[in-house]
Order: sequence, then C-alpha cells, then structure tokens
Amino acid sequence: MASSLPTVAIVGRPNVGKSTLMNRVLGRREAIVAEQPGVTRDRKEMPASWQGRDFTVVDTGGWLPQGSGDNASMDAKVSAQSEKSMEGADVVVMVVDSHAGITGDDEGVAGRLRGRAGPVLVAVNKVDDEAREDLIWEFIRLGLGDPFPVSALHGRGVGDLLDAVMAVLPDEPAGATDSDTESEADAGMVSVSIVGRPNAGKSTLFNRLIGDDRSVVHDQPGTTRDAIDTVVETELGPIRFVDTAGMRRRARIDQATEYYSLLRALAAVDRSDIALLVIDATVGVTHQDQRLAERIDGAGCPIVVLLNKWDLLDTEAREAIAIDIDHRLHFLGDAAVLRVSALSGKGLNRLLPELRGVIAEYRRRIPTQAVNRVLRDAQAAHPAPDGARVLYATQGAADPPTFTLFANRTLPRTYLRYLERRLREAFDLGSVPVKLRVRRRSGE
Ligand code: GDP
Ligand code: GDP
Repeated sequence: MASSLPTVAIVGRPNVGKSTLMNRVLGRREAIVAEQPGVTRDRKEMPASWQGRDFTVVDTGGWLPQGSGDNASMDAKVSAQSEKSMEGADVVVMVVDSHAGITGDDEGVAGRLRGRAGPVLVAVNKVDDEAREDLIWEFIRLGLGDPFPVSALHGRGVGDLLDAVMAVLPDEPAGATDSDTESEADAGMVSVSIVGRPNAGKSTLFNRLIGDDRSVVHDQPGTTRDAIDTVVETELGPIRFVDTAGMRRRARIDQATEYYSLLRALAAVDRSDIALLVIDATVGVTHQDQRLAERIDGAGCPIVVLLNKWDLLDTEAREAIAIDIDHRLHFLGDAAVLRVSALSGKGLNRLLPELRGVIAEYRRRIPTQAVNRVLRDAQAAHPAPDGARVLYATQGAADPPTFTLFANRTLPRTYLRYLERRLREAFDLGSVPVKLRVRRRSGE
C-alpha cells in the first residue's frame, strides 16, 4: 500500500452494505458485492474523490468474522492485513444496518473502534426513506457519536456523510509520519500490556497502578492510530502501558465480546515487551485464558500472571486454582504467578519487584520489534525463493542468542545464513554463536 493519499476505511459486520456504500462513494461499480455474507474477501483499495479532494477508500471486508463466539477458527477468520488497514486508516466509517438494529457483532466492532485515536463515523445504512430516519438514534448507544443516516443503495445521505468525512480527513495520511523516530526516542522504555478476559479486572488494576501517588502519568499515542498508551513513572523508570484508552475511560460501555477483546489483546501484546495476564480467580483458568497465554508465549513475550479477585476466594477455591494453573498453564514454565486483589491493592506490592526481574532478563535481549525490522528489511532487499517468508520472529534465549523465526514454509539453508548475517551485522553480535530456529506457521 504505497499510496500517499489519506485513507478512509469502511468497516462493519457482513451484509450491512459496505460494498454497496463503497460503490456509491466510488461512483462506479468497481467493488463487487459479495454474494454470500461473511465470505472473506480481499481488501480492496480504490481511489476516490469528493469536493476536489483525493483519498483512498479501503473496504476491509475480510476483517470481520461471521460469528464472534467461535474462537477455535479465529486464525482463519482474521485477516491480519485488513486489521492493519483498519488500524492505519485516517478515518474509519463503521457501517450498520438500520433494519437489524445493534447486533452483538456491531458491538464488537464498535468496542474495537472506541479506543481509536483517529475519527470514526457511524453510517446507519438502508435508511431508504425519511420514515426510517428515526431508527438511527438507537445507534448512539455504540458510543461513537451521532450516526449518519444513509442509503447506500439509493445514494441518500451519502453526500452528507462524505462531507463529514472530508471535515475530519487530514492532509497527510496516517502512515506518513515516521514511527521509527518515536521508537528511537522511546528506546529503552519498557512496554507492558495488561490483557485478560472481559471483567477480569484489567481496568481496576490499571487504575490502581496509575493512582499511585508516585506515578506521573502522561498519554502517548501508540504506534497504531487507535491506541492510546500511558507512560507511568515508576521506581523502575518510565513504563509504557500499551493500549490503555479503554481502561482509563470512566464510564465504559464495554460490551466487547470475548472475540474482540482477544483481538485487541493480541494487538497490544505485539507492541509490548511484557504482558500482564489478568485472570479472574473466581472463574478459574478458562480456555480463553489458556489461548491468550499460548499466543503471548508464542510471540516470545514474557508473562506475569495475576490471579485477581483473590479476596473473594475461600481456602478451597484457592487450592483449586493452584491446581488449575499447574494444569492449564504449565507451558509457561517458571513465569511468575501473583495472587492479588486489584480492588484493594493487596498483593500488588510484589508486582514491581517481579517486573524488575523480568525487565532485567528482557534487557539482555534484542527487542522483538527491532528483530522484525531487520528481518523485514533483509527480506525486502532479497526475498527468499518460492514465496517463502519469515512472518514474525523473536529472540527466544539470550545466551547464546537464539532467534525463533515463524515462516510460511521451509527456508533454504543458504537463505537462513543470509538472515543470520543480517541479524549479526544489525546487532553487532560479532563472533557470538547465533542460533536460528524455524517454525512453520500458516500464513498471515
Ligand atoms: P457488505 O457485506 O457489508 O459489503 O454488504 P453488501 O454491500 O454486500 O450489501 C448486503 C445487502 O444489503 C445487499 O443485498 C445489498 O443490496 C443490500 N443493501 C445495501 N445497501 C442497501 C440500502 O441502502 N438499502 C437497502 N434496502 N438495501 C441495501
Ligand atoms: P476489565 O473488564 O478486565 O477491565 O475488568 P474491570 O476492571 O472493569 O473489573 C470488573 C469487575 O470486577 C468490577 O466490578 C471490579 O470492581 C471487579 N474487580 C476487579 N478487581 C477485583 C478484585 O481484586 N476483587 C474484587 N472483589 N473485585 C474486583
């Protein structure tokens, strides 16, 4: 996507009329209306203009799943690419269906969008005549501002919507600023994400951490447009808490499904050096917690497990959850498990010392982002044969430096040597032995 134009992404669950709206905006029938709802379509980008301004419209049709409860096939459903295009867009138009009202999936999408720093407009589609205009007010509940009534099919209201889009469209596209500058300024600052199931106590924990008198808090835009990070001054130095927008909002209308909270968590984990996995101890270790832990671990991100709401557990329950942890999170090895009450603050005094240890260990490693940047550049300069590609990499162990590369297929030995050389050069590893482990993973 080498476009230098600002981008407008059209998002929404299947069948609300995204493609129809895209056609309308483009003024031609270029986008294909999907025959079957929920069919994963490729992301489409089309040049468009309104009021003499040029921009790119992105249809993120592939982004959304048909149903949101089924985590098992999540990987198949989520197109990382469409997710990215949504995150990188300057303006997002969320389309909903006036006939259908607010569905669970709509709520999921809205929850995902509410944390965005950039503008989001809600287009209530299928308002084919004036009589239906009253239907739009229900959608205020999505928490994304006043909705716009449109009929993508007949063109009604689309002009007003586009006027509103133009009013918030920046001159420069979001991707135009060099995010490397930011990461350089922040070099050495540890990023921590707080993840876990809805209701586990993440917000309570976070607010307690920043409510501390010693901490000076400031907001920082995340590297993606929609995430607000919070930098907290601690005795360990500044720590960046990733994607905290939703956690600091006072009155949250957070009805995000587990599915979307998982997506959001994974995006946050990708940007963090350490993950705090908050588990609701009154519920126990669920499949969702397990999945999340596996993904964090797979991403090479150290984990601190917080068994929250410890205050609510009786002796029996406390014993039960210890067994639960051994059983279900055994793959985490010696990851720290803290028993805490975010509500009362009990047990949280152990968090910073624990983080200190993890950070010290982490500092001996090359940041995941840097590893990936080097590999990305190396592959761009000299791609592997037959479409083989390293999708993602982390440094697994520090001594000797061991990198785990997740690749879409087997990489030739000579190519691995090339990558090794590039890593060695980039990180001044000199003659230190470097190990590369390759794991196959189905594509992005
Ligand atoms: P998408 O999956 O969100 O891209 O939805 P489509 O653009 O494929 O539209 C889904 C269905 O809704 C199609 O049958 C469209 O003809 C219909 N549709 C789209 N916009 C409107 C509209 O403004 N009014 C009415 N009545 N139907 C519409
Ligand atoms: P989030 O969805 O993960 O951000 O969860 P919240 O922070 O909003 O917490 C969900 C609910 O659990 C709220 O009613 C909190 O007051 C409650 N809660 C959070 N932590 C604790 C705790 O340590 N003990 C008790 N008893 N309740 C807690």
